[in-house]
Amino acid sequence: MTDPKLLAPVHADVTEKAAKLFAHSTVAQALAAIELDEKRTLDDQVAITLIPAPPFHEKERGLNLMERFRALGLQEVSMDPEGNVIAIRRGTGNGPVLVLAAHQDTVFPAETKLELRRENGILHCPGISDDARGLAVILQVLRTLQELNIQTVGDLYFVCTVGEEGNGDLRGSKYLFHKSGLPIDGFISVDGVNVSRLLSAATGSKRYRVHFDGPGGHSWKAFGTPSAIHAMGRAIAKIADVQPCKDPRTTFTCGTVAGGTTVNSIAEHCEMELDMRSAGARELDEIEAQILPLIEAACREENARWGAEGDKAVRLRLEPIGHRPGGQQSDDVSVLQAARASMSVLGIELKDYSIASTDHNIAINCGVPATTLGGGGREGNNHNVREWYDPKDGYLGPQLAFMTSLLLLGFEGVTEPLLEKRG
Ligand SMILES: [Zn+2]
Repeated sequence: MTDPKLLAPVHADVTEKAAKLFAHSTVAQALAAIELDEKRTLDDQVAITLIPAPPFHEKERGLNLMERFRALGLQEVSMDPEGNVIAIRRGTGNGPVLVLAAHQDTVFPAETKLELRRENGILHCPGISDDARGLAVILQVLRTLQELNIQTVGDLYFVCTVGEEGNGDLRGSKYLFHKSGLPIDGFISVDGVNVSRLLSAATGSKRYRVHFDGPGGHSWKAFGTPSAIHAMGRAIAKIADVQPCKDPRTTFTCGTVAGGTTVNSIAEHCEMELDMRSAGARELDEIEAQILPLIEAACREENARWGAEGDKAVRLRLEPIGHRPGGQQSDDVSVLQAARASMSVLGIELKDYSIASTDHNIAINCGVPATTLGGGGREGNNHNVREWYDPKDGYLGPQLAFMTSLLLLGFEGVTEPLLEKRG
């Protein structure tokens, strides 16, 4: 996390371009239209929320989103094999490609009751904010561009990703960057609502479920047999002493443990879940390379303690359960510069310049400049059935996404694109 006050100022040419756009009458009309359209944005948000999109079952919501893009006048609308919805608004040709994304999936299982309740202007419903707000915001950006007939230089790809949450393991954005073959030059995700927060880097994580299996036996009669739990205990003790890299911040924890049979049994099976994170891509690989051998050594020590070999020994199995690549990028990249300049002309103070794990992880890891913007308003109890959304000043979200996108893509006849085409 960087104190925003310590950041170098936004480049002069970026500030100039933002001011020029902001002073343009069409852009002024567009920003006013976004504010006037607040209710339409919110209606979209509610309608999308009420279509279930549990992990790995986003299709119903995806098909609905395709209809919405078509209704707003886009013809190139498709769903890729992973389930991402991609809707393309072309520029004048030969310009850069910017992806404006939000995620379709929620954390809620299919049986979750989706019922909207309004109380004192606050909306309550599972998923009402995360990320139905982001989806509604990108639709509003499209609506504004269409209604004011704004011609960008670069192409704008609206992408509704699948699998952003939890065990989805970013499968939608992984497909987008590793398999789709789309020529993406910049990436913005709208996720979370805080418009004063800008995400500048991606926390990477690797997760394993570690299984220990041995012969087990009676604690008295079979004494002398290596124990799965003792092996795991040795492993945890070693892991607990690891000194991770401090900058970029790198962390680890054995998050859950389970196993054993009874108090008077030598444990036959046990398992633990291990989480490792880092703001640096290399440091994530390094912490993994440091910790996994410790687990193997622990297992060897437990077996050596009893001279156990072959099927008398405790065996180890590492089950990967998550890999979110992360990484850092320069504060100078166009996407971050454009977002900061847009905040500035819109009167939004940058209060939080930090790192997190979202769809932008894969982009940053692939060297594509990327960030995550807030969708506007306030939210609470995310990932909980008591999730709520407060739409007050929500229009700032679509305004910020609109300005940032326009700055990056270029407004034909007014500004050149800030976003650079990648080789
Ligand atoms: Zn989210």
